[in-house]
Amino acid sequence: MQAVFDGHNDVLLRLWQNARKGSDPVGEFVTGTDQGHIDAPRSKKGGLVGGLCAIYVPSGDLVLAGPDANGHYATPLSAPIEHLPSLRVAVEMADIAVRLDRAGAWKLCRSTAEIREAIGQGIFASVLHMEGCEAIGADLSALETFYAAGLRTLGPVWSRHNAFAHGVPFAFPMSPDTAPGLTEAGFELVKACNRLGILIDLAHITEKGFWDVAKTSDQPLVVSHSNAHALTAVARNLTDKQLDAVSESKGLVGLNYATTMLRADAQENAATPLSDMVRHIDYMVERMGIDCVGLGSDFDGATIPEDIGDAAGSQKLVAALKSAGYGDAELAKICRENWLRVLGQAWHEAA
Ligand SMILES: [Zn+2]
Repeated sequence: MQAVFDGHNDVLLRLWQNARKGSDPVGEFVTGTDQGHIDAPRSKKGGLVGGLCAIYVPSGDLVLAGPDANGHYATPLSAPIEHLPSLRVAVEMADIAVRLDRAGAWKLCRSTAEIREAIGQGIFASVLHMEGCEAIGADLSALETFYAAGLRTLGPVWSRHNAFAHGVPFAFPMSPDTAPGLTEAGFELVKACNRLGILIDLAHITEKGFWDVAKTSDQPLVVSHSNAHALTAVARNLTDKQLDAVSESKGLVGLNYATTMLRADAQENAATPLSDMVRHIDYMVERMGIDCVGLGSDFDGATIPEDIGDAAGSQKLVAALKSAGYGDAELAKICRENWLRVLGQAWHEAA
């Protein structure tokens, strides 16, 4: 068993959606259900010991475009969303995260020491993340409050433009160079994250935005849930040039389990073999080195291979990687240690 700490999940979105229908998020997480991908029992079974848990304000207009006769598709970007309604939803999700922490259902971690301690105690180690920062406000007026609530990583933009940056659409085949990069407010957000010690996540941002952050941030470049564009040519995946820049900064890319980002044909299809996951890991390890590859499941946020199923199936990927020749020390890096290293760096912990 390799303990897995991964870079992206949407369990807070599921708990929030169900809470609006009357479910108790703490009970749902602790007792578990067969809905979605992550809760305490399934995480324990699969050795998923923690991860980055996203505050994500959903876009009501998101309808994924179906493929044409050639298997190509291009979902239009969702419309921008307003600051105040986003702030309300984000606060409600942060509230659920804090309630889970206070109930002992998971531990909201603010340091790598806290992550290791939670893992040692068998408590899910949650790091509060924000995927798209509409809720923070262009003037950053809510940033310190979310930081105080435990926010320690954020992606300036999701796949819709906002005050900080431009996002890429869900499209195949398409280059990630689809729109401009950071705005003035986006540059200010990056600087504030550097100062506070909040890890900046480059998933969903355009290629120009990626390079804007690369030239501005003092952190390693981290993309929490994306794969190799050379193998799956969706706009959400990273070009070789981007992978090289991540490697140069001693950063990290977390493997996204979404079948649309794994398969050569980029289709949403749960009958996707584990070998497609191994293929992307192999490619990224070859290109960037073993220290720059991690996992970023996108549990509760995507259609994933049925051979994984949910968090309980996390060790099936580990077994597939083992069969492909990865040793225990390499697996430890991919499964958690690389994530802990980049988090510690972004959080200004002494090396
Ligand atoms: Zn995402």
